[in-house]
Amino acid sequence: MKVGAVAMKKSKRVMRRSILSCLYSHLQDAYGLEYPEESFVQGPVSMQDIDALLAFKSDPRLDELRGALDRLERGTFGQCLACKEPMDPALLEADPTHRLCPACEQFYSHVMTREIRLPMSPLR
Ligand SMILES: [Zn+2]
Repeated sequence: MKVGAVAMKKSKRVMRRSILSCLYSHLQDAYGLEYPEESFVQGPVSMQDIDALLAFKSDPRLDELRGALDRLERGTFGQCLACKEPMDPALLEADPTHRLCPACEQFYSHVMTREIRLPMSPLR
C-alpha cells in the first residue's frame, strides 16, 4: 500500500499531463477549443484558466476531469473513493477519472442497479 502511494506521488506530474491531455482532447472534440495543445498540457495554463474555460460548459465529462485534477492537487488521486486503497496505475492511465477500484465499482454498481430496478418491479 505504501509503495503504491509513493509511486503515485512520483508520477503526479505525469498524471497531471495525462489528465490535461484528456481534458484537451475532450474540449477540442466537443467544443473546438482553439488553444495550443502543448501550452495546455505542459502547464502554462493555470487552474484559473481551466476553471474559466469550463465555467461556460455543463458537461459531466468535464466535471469528471476537473475532479481528477482536484484530487491530484489534494493528494487523494489514485485512491479508491470507497475503500481508500491505492488503485491500479494502469487503470488510471487508461482513464484518469476512475474513482473506484474494480471491486468497489462492481459492488456499488450492483447496489445502484438494484435500487433503480426495484421500483419498476411488476410485483410491488
Ligand atoms: Zn475500493
